[in-house]
Amino acid sequence: MSTVVLMSLVKEYQCPHCNAPMDVNPEDAIFNCRSCGQAVLSDGSEFKDHYVLRNTLNRTKIHEIIKGFIKKKGFMRGIKGYKITNITPTLTPFWVVTSDAYTHFVGYLRYTETKTRTVGTGKNRRTVTDHVTVYRPIDQEIREKRADVLLGRRGSSIYGYSKVKDIVRSEFSTAVPFEHDHLIATDKEFDYLSTEITLDAANQLGKTVVFDNHRARAQKACTKVFDCATQITYSGTYFVHAPVWQVEYEFKGETYRVAILGSSGRIILGEIPVTTTFRMIFLTLTVLAIGAAGVVSYFFGQSAVYVPIIAGIVAAVIGFFTLKNTFKPKSVVD
Ligand SMILES: [Zn+2]
Repeated sequence: MSTVVLMSLVKEYQCPHCNAPMDVNPEDAIFNCRSCGQAVLSDGSEFKDHYVLRNTLNRTKIHEIIKGFIKKKGFMRGIKGYKITNITPTLTPFWVVTSDAYTHFVGYLRYTETKTRTVGTGKNRRTVTDHVTVYRPIDQEIREKRADVLLGRRGSSIYGYSKVKDIVRSEFSTAVPFEHDHLIATDKEFDYLSTEITLDAANQLGKTVVFDNHRARAQKACTKVFDCATQITYSGTYFVHAPVWQVEYEFKGETYRVAILGSSGRIILGEIPVTTTFRMIFLTLTVLAIGAAGVVSYFFGQSAVYVPIIAGIVAAVIGFFTLKNTFKPKSVVD
């Protein structure tokens, strides 16, 4: 029975470009022909706008980048003797929805204006301060070219995925048409991930992102928005693969992760150990701060009652951050 259900899910495919038979994963919304690399939509038609950010890294460079990362971000932490235990290069799928977006919004902004004026004459001359609540009508437009980036996978199994979107947006202009031969020749160690999100779903998601973004900007400009209307004209939806190197390194028995974008070598996100050295420095600073607060209270406590209160708050805030940094095993940096 289950065999019958499975059989109906797997469709027979033939590449529309080179006619080679294609193996397809029913989870994927875009397939790539293993013979010629052509991207094919789930209805069997060719998809032209498949791009890639070209990888420029190799394992040797990854080791150098990790070394630099630990040297720079691990300052004062005494991280010596770490070991890279795993390097996984992945071609990560993104949709880039480009559009011309236009929004017209109407509302008002309420604020308080403080004005001083002089009244009276001679000996009765004095300054009066008035607080006036102002209601300013707002009628504005947002007009922009957008490139909204969406991860082509459901879920968040890819480390640093929420941050990589912004980097892909900034590097999208350097993307080149997907080169199957280049991938086979030089980047064959890459795990190739296709998209689970269809072209239509990507456009829908892209639309929601634009609506939400413009609505949020209108709400920021107004105390109350009366009307907000958005029009979107799509200028192209691109399927873009970005080379992401997932790295794991070990330090004192714990594993830490770093994600690096293979096109520019930028660190997307990385974890750094919170070491004993680092905790000691934090604790010392806290003791000094609390001590300083005590001294300040002793000398100024009688003349100004608020001084010990402020000193207490400062000491509590520093103490809180110390506790936070003392017990957590790692910090996340980019
Ligand atoms: Zn083909």
